[in-house]
Amino acid sequence: MQPASKANQHTTRISAHLHPPNFQAKGTALGFKVAILGAAGGIGQPLAMLMKINLLISVLHLYDVVNTPGITADISHMDTGAVVRGFLGQQQLEEALVGMDLVIIPAGVPRKPGMTRDDLFNINAGIARTLCEGIVKSCLKAIVNLISNPVNSTVPIAAEVFKRAGTYDPKRLLGVTMLNVVRANTFVAEVLGLDPREVDVPVVGGHAGMMILPLLSQVKPLCSFTPPEIEYLTSRIQNGGTEVVEAKAGADSATLYMAHAAVKFANACLCMLRGDAGNFEYAFVASQVTELLFFASKVRLGHTGAEEVLLLGPLNEYEGAGLEKAKKELAESIRKGVSFIKK
Ligand code: NAD
Repeated sequence: MQPASKANQHTTRISAHLHPPNFQAKGTALGFKVAILGAAGGIGQPLAMLMKINLLISVLHLYDVVNTPGITADISHMDTGAVVRGFLGQQQLEEALVGMDLVIIPAGVPRKPGMTRDDLFNINAGIARTLCEGIVKSCLKAIVNLISNPVNSTVPIAAEVFKRAGTYDPKRLLGVTMLNVVRANTFVAEVLGLDPREVDVPVVGGHAGMMILPLLSQVKPLCSFTPPEIEYLTSRIQNGGTEVVEAKAGADSATLYMAHAAVKFANACLCMLRGDAGNFEYAFVASQVTELLFFASKVRLGHTGAEEVLLLGPLNEYEGAGLEKAKKELAESIRKGVSFIKK
């Protein structure tokens, strides 16, 4: 037998540590199996920690191209039910994905000051494609929650990868736009003097800048805003990501409240897989609500995925004008994603 190379010895040690032999936690058959791809990142780490305490999860796979051994060891010491396993590097991608019910993807490069989400396109497009090819091979029925930006383009990329493989089911591919809803609820609650948990702000459209369309005329509880309040809230909701990027002075983008938003959305997906009825969330999905192929709007989550995409409801003049502007830019982001794979 050839002596193992240094790199191989390292991988073997990591595997032995991350996959304890013959270990089966009590109750693992009952919960869902969830993989996080990009688990070592700014979003991935808090997301992994929060998913480890989710009672619906029995097995949690943490995959990244760096640092998963340490993060897996760290999180696996939490005294909660889910069994955690780590996977490092592309050679372990398919293994990380085998049998998963839900795959959450925050892998990729985040925005730095001055960068738009589209600047990220070339790097993150390739990452999204590789990871979706892994899903095709190992868990083609999984629900996919795609977080990597630009979501407006990475979701069409994922759809094209799945179409090429003949496995595309639009109901199972969900771009995560929950962050916009979370921040909209927070900012609107501040203006109304309410608890954000009592506020429901519809946010539709796309997932960058002016493509993010808060429908302030449809806020619940019923309320009205002055024109300056509408300007302030719309602008703050659309630019909330930039607010965090600038406040962190380039060190990071929105990671902690993004992890919270991702957990809220993933939890809704797990409840949907469990068969809970009447679960509605906002997501960027294949859509016929407008003439665009994809659009973020309210969806009804049923046990097979996003089973219904709801119409936008009545828009006022301000929102109608915003929608027209957003659609132009969104159409270009979608086209870019589709043609990345077609090329
Ligand atoms: P980060 O750089 O802190 O983490 C990204 C992680 O992805 C890193 O650990 C990196 O090693 C990993 N990665 C890179 N290439 C990979 C590959 N081929 N396979 C697996 N993992 C890989 O970035 P972050 O702040 O966690 O952001 C991650 C992504 O989420 C970015 O694209 C960011 O723009 C996006 N994001 C989305 C939203 C949203 O609302 N959907 C909000 C904030 C950030």
